[in-house]
Parts: sequence; structure tokens; C-alpha cells
Amino acid sequence: MITTLNPYTGKELKSYQNATDHEIESAISLAETTFHHWKKTTFEERRHHILNVKKQLEKDKREYAEMMTAEMGKPISQAIAEVEKCAWLCQYYADHAVEHLERLVIETDAQESFVTFEPLGIILAVMPWNYPFWQVFRFIIPSLMAGNVGLLKHSTSVMGSAQLIERVFLDAGLQKGCFQNLVIASDAVEPIINDSRIKAVTLTGSKPAGSAVASAAAKKIKKSVLELGGSNALVVLPDADMENTLETCVKARYQNTGQSCIAGKRLLLHEDIADQFLERFVEKVKELTTGDPMDENTYIGVMAREDLAKDLQEQVNDTLDAGAKLMLGGKRDGAYFEPTIVTNVHADMRMFKEETFGPAMAVTTFKTFDEAVDLVNQSDFGLGVSVFTTNIDQIKPHISRFEDGAVFINELVKSDPRLPFGGTKISGYGRELSVFGIREFVNIKTVYIN
Ligand code: NDP
Repeated sequence: MITTLNPYTGKELKSYQNATDHEIESAISLAETTFHHWKKTTFEERRHHILNVKKQLEKDKREYAEMMTAEMGKPISQAIAEVEKCAWLCQYYADHAVEHLERLVIETDAQESFVTFEPLGIILAVMPWNYPFWQVFRFIIPSLMAGNVGLLKHSTSVMGSAQLIERVFLDAGLQKGCFQNLVIASDAVEPIINDSRIKAVTLTGSKPAGSAVASAAAKKIKKSVLELGGSNALVVLPDADMENTLETCVKARYQNTGQSCIAGKRLLLHEDIADQFLERFVEKVKELTTGDPMDENTYIGVMAREDLAKDLQEQVNDTLDAGAKLMLGGKRDGAYFEPTIVTNVHADMRMFKEETFGPAMAVTTFKTFDEAVDLVNQSDFGLGVSVFTTNIDQIKPHISRFEDGAVFINELVKSDPRLPFGGTKISGYGRELSVFGIREFVNIKTVYIN
């Protein structure tokens, strides 16, 4: 039995019966049958279905948002924005999948040679609780447009959201086998990956989960895509536009109560502006409205689970014990964690080395741009970095020095359906979104005719 809890009230929400082996088999079998039909549909037919999904998301967005807020404490206004972003994603792939997957003619010695992008079959997704709708949609929409079908093993914290997502597709008129939610715990994942009808797997979550799932896939020589979080740096240079940079850095760290893989977790300040910047930064963070996540005005809700808040408390305490300084917050009450700022954080401290998945910022100062680049790259993670400066021309030649999957100048790292999303190092491999994402789970077939 899987039981979900409301992290704000601490009350049980609902219990879900785990799928039996027989039910899992039926779901795989239905997905397989559906795939053989779905792969023959035209782009126009798929586009029609995905636009119906978009309409369905827009119609009942409040209901979906409320479920996410109840299950993982996301402030309701941010939950509504998440559903709206999923609708945007549907529109993007409805409009662009044809061009992403159209036949690519390549001149060779042959009479005719070209590349086609053909679906693989059933793709399994193992997904986390932090963006319960977005993480799933960003996998399933391009997969369906490419002619694949999907199975979902969602986080046990958000089983209600998982069921609602399945309902979105049914209400939009897609066949049941196109997308099915499996009510299972993590120990049921490997046997599913081992099934020959499952062609690939994608996981968003922690390093241990990614490593386990990718190892299972590798044993069966199956493709995997991993999106495993990050410890993004926000680099503030002395010539940065202070007002915009402050706003952006606050949002980068504290939106979604700090529980985002691409959140700015390490604030790297040039020593010339560090004191002045920090003073204003503390003021701005103090202004953030905390409270009931169902309240439209709340910006910081609770963390998704009490154990995650306890983990963050340990990371903060250990960092302080190692010599860092507490500027704001630092305390936990149940799943609530105060918006926190810790300064004098060095590269050997936990808040620098590890991913902090909650509303706590680690602040480090630097003297030169070269030192800042070193600090950014010292992280084992490589998802993204933001640099703030008004001298963009001076920064451009240095972009290649950052080892991350994304470099954003004067903006927080954010996912956008039009741009590839993914990391380097222990942030994972493969890309989601854009033309790169939709081509992850296809057979890139070379055709040579002489
Ligand atoms: P996990 O990585 O454990 O969970 C993510 C998903 O993976 C869930 O569906 C989970 O299932 C599943 N899973 C976990 N272990 C396995 C396994 N061995 N085999 C198959 N599936 C598995 O995240 P947590 O919720 O425990 O969060 C822990 C930390 O992970 C966070 O503090 C954060 O640092 C990071 N994280 C990163 C995210 C990101 O966006 N990159 C998102 C969420 C977490 P189940 O729920 O049944 O355990």
C-alpha cells in the first residue's frame, strides 16, 4: 500500500493499492498493442490528440494544481503556472515535431541516402515529486509525438497527481495504452526494465536512483536518459545590474521552495560588491511570503516531506559547524524550512559540495573571474550556471570554460520547450525538450539506396 501525506497539515491524503504482477503485465501488454497502432498514426493525428491534451490541461488546471499542492506543498500559484507550462509544451511539440522528425536527406555516393527517425516502442519513465506534472509531460509529449507510448512510475509522494495525469490523456480522447500510470514502489522498476517489450527508460531524481535504473537498463543494453539534479552557481560580477540580479537570484533559489534541480544553490559574489549585494539580498528574502501553500499569496510553502527537510537541516548545520556563518533562517519545523542564507561557504563544505534541495542559499565570495570559473567547475554537478554582468561581450569568449549543460547570462537557468535541457558530470546524460529531446527515444535509421 502506498499512502500519500499532505506535508503542510501532516495528514494522510489517500492510500493506493500497489499494482499486482498481473496488473503490471496487463499494462505492458496493452501498451505494446497500442504502440503498434499508434506508431502508424500521422503527425496530423498525433497533433490533434496532443492539442486535445492541452485543452484538457487548461480546462481543469485548478484541480490539477490543488492536487500537487496538497501532495508536495508547492504554493498554489506556482502549481497553476506548472500546469500552464505543460500546456505550452503541448503546443510546442504539436507545432514542431514534424520538422524535428522529418526525413533528413544527406548527399553521399549513393543514388539516394537519408535518415529517418522512427519510434522505439514503450518508454518507461521514473519521475520525482518536485514538479509532478511538468517532469512527466516533458517526457511523454515528445515521446507520443515521435510515435512511442509511455509507462509511468511516479514518486510515491504524488500518486494522486500521477492518476490525474493518466486521466488527462483519457479525457483528451487518447487510447488508454498510450500513457499508463503504474502504482508501484521502486523495487518493482527493475523487473519492468528487464521486460523485452520495454525499449528505454528515462529518470529524473537523485544520483542513487539514477544509478540503479541506468544500471538495470545497461544490463539489458537499453537506452537511458538521466536528469539527476544540480548545484547551479549564480555568479555576480561587479558590473552586474544590481536590481535585476537581486530579483533573479531570489527567484532562482527560492521558487518551488528551493526544490528544483536547476535552482541557483551557490551564490558566488565578487568581493567588491559582496557586502552591498548581501545586505539587499537578505532584505528581499525576508520579504518572501511564507505560509499555507493553498493561499494564493504564499511564495514559500513547505518542503515535500519532513525527511527531506531534516536532510537539509543536517547540511546547513554541518556547514555552519565547519565555519560558515548564518545570515538568515536556518531552522526547521516539521516539513517547513525557513528561507535560509549561509555565507562564508567554502568548497569543502557540504552546502557547496552537495545538492541542497530546499530554501537555503550558500554564499561564497571570489576575487577574480578566473577564480569564479574554478568555483563553478569545482562542483561534481554540471546542470547549469548563471552569470550576471552588463558587459556581455566580455563574457561571451569565456562561455566555453564552464563545464555545465547550460550557461545563462543575466537570467536564471530555466527549462524551455524550445531549448535542450540536461547536464554533464553527475547531473546525468542525454537531453530533454527541443529537437534534441524528441530524438533521444527514436531509431535514427540510415537508409542508403544504390
Ligand atoms: P529519488 O531520486 O529517490 O526519487 C525519484 C524517483 O526515483 C521516484 O519515483 C523514486 O521512487 C524512484 N526511485 C528511487 N530509487 C529507485 C531505485 N533504486 N530504483 C528505481 N526507482 C527508484 O528522490 P527522493 O524523493 O528520495 O529525493 C532525494 C533527493 O533527490 C532530493 O533531496 C534531491 O537532492 C534529489 N532529487 C532531484 C530531483 C531532480 O529534479 N533532479 C527531483 C527529486 C529529488 P519512490 O518514490 O518509490 O522512492
